[in-house]
Amino acid sequence: MSSRVRSSAAIRIFKVGTNGKVYCEHNLLAALRQAGTCASRPGEEFYECPFALGRSHCSLFVLKYEVENVILEATERRALQNQYERFEMEKGLLEREVITLKSKVDSYEAGLAERRALQTEYERLGMEKGLLEREIISLKSKVDTYEAALVKVFAAVVLFLGFLCFFIRY
Ligand SMILES: [Zn+2]
Repeated sequence: MSSRVRSSAAIRIFKVGTNGKVYCEHNLLAALRQAGTCASRPGEEFYECPFALGRSHCSLFVLKYEVENVILEATERRALQNQYERFEMEKGLLEREVITLKSKVDSYEAGLAERRALQTEYERLGMEKGLLEREIISLKSKVDTYEAALVKVFAAVVLFLGFLCFFIRY
């Protein structure tokens, strides 16, 4: 399988196989050649059609470093893609963790609200207890007062009966 890629340096279209090798328009393995001493960039390596110059020679011409750059870019792009996918996966895991934590916080808050309600109820009952205790004290003091009054009345009656007996005798 070969992929069609475009060199970024010049708009030159060439095919690079998954093996990293360059193919010409005939789908043949391109020939790696070296520019001669008379060329503008002597010694520069380039790929071209493996057919000898002539009618069947296709238009493939690409410098070796351009191919290398494209391969490097593709490798970097793949590495970035892998990294992106890993980040996406991690993001998914973190999102699931956030949901779990949120539900924990929710249940904790619900427990806290329940505890607060119980605390309020406890305080209310304590206040009621205090009021009842005060009422009991006041009732006890009333009872004491009545009892004291009753004792006085009883003593008065006994005294009166005593006097009565005394006067009846004499
Ligand atoms: Zn060719």
